[in-house]
Amino acid sequence: SGAEDAMDDDSEVKIGGVRISSAGRKVFPDAGVTKADVARHYEAVAERMLTYAADRPVSLLRLPEGLEGQTFFQKHAGKGWPSSIKPLPIEEKDGSTEDYMYVASAAGLMGAAQMGSVEFHIWGSKRDKLDKPDRLVFDLDPDEGLDFGDVKAACEELRAGLDAVGLPSSPMVSGGKGVHVIVPLRRTATWETVKTFSRAFATILAERHPDRYVATMSKAKRKGRIFIDWLRNERGSTAIAPYSLRARPGAPVAVPVSWEELARLDAPNGFHPSDMESRLSRPCPLAEVQPKGITAEVVAALEDWAAGDA
Ligand code: ATP
Ligand code: MN
Ligand code: MN
Repeated sequence: SGAEDAMDDDSEVKIGGVRISSAGRKVFPDAGVTKADVARHYEAVAERMLTYAADRPVSLLRLPEGLEGQTFFQKHAGKGWPSSIKPLPIEEKDGSTEDYMYVASAAGLMGAAQMGSVEFHIWGSKRDKLDKPDRLVFDLDPDEGLDFGDVKAACEELRAGLDAVGLPSSPMVSGGKGVHVIVPLRRTATWETVKTFSRAFATILAERHPDRYVATMSKAKRKGRIFIDWLRNERGSTAIAPYSLRARPGAPVAVPVSWEELARLDAPNGFHPSDMESRLSRPCPLAEVQPKGITAEVVAALEDWAAGDA
């Protein structure tokens, strides 16, 4: 971006009405992506990203010194933060109440960028019904050495199993090493039900194909396998938001893709801010998926699926 080459690190710009300081600071030195570019990315994707990220607890990965400096995973706002990043009091397991954050507007996304945020991590539930998740996520984490073809095959296997129990899903390349298989939910079941379902589903797959999958966090068991991380589906857990930038070399973006598109992709980190215009000109594949409830029928279908050998 030519404008910033001439710009001092500490210059100030306005993007979408939000003041961005140190606008020329290189956040991704390898990709030449500045703090202003980060804010511009969020301005560009705001409308679509907010359909997923608005009005729910959000944690921010902040890189005040860019990719090469220290990073901070932040669940609570700090003093002097923009008012577009709103407080959301949530009762913790121990009964105490903590202020989490949520955003409801493009200004909130850009306000977070002004605070040095690069990644937005979201809860699976919204603030008006915090105890009833509207999404379920299987985060596929391949061990080193596996190739993307293995990850794609695993995604298809999850998709088939989810279809078998009546849950349509959609993949999102994480911008990192893996793919998230996302199931949009009707907000009928509690976290407990959704977590129990997720754990059972991942465990059944891992028991069926112990050579390929693990469903526990144990690093030792992960050798040469894909960890089906179902632990994103607990109250308080987060997963990367669709259209979030990632704090990884090259400034990749987490992008929902169609199943047909996934089959043709050769990496989970191939999308960048420069690809957003063409993606935004088409409907989001994740938005096309009909939300379903984790109902008694789904649970019964899971038992049948577990008993089968497919
Ligand atoms: P990849 O495809 O490379 O795995 P990912 O986003 O799935 O990318 P994971 O390491 O699998 O990365 O992340 C698991 C989740 O844990 C993240 O999506 C995030 O929401 C959460 N997380 C990340 N960093 C922290 C942290 N420091 N503290 C708590 N939770 C975190
Ligand atoms: Mn992952
Ligand atoms: Mn994970």
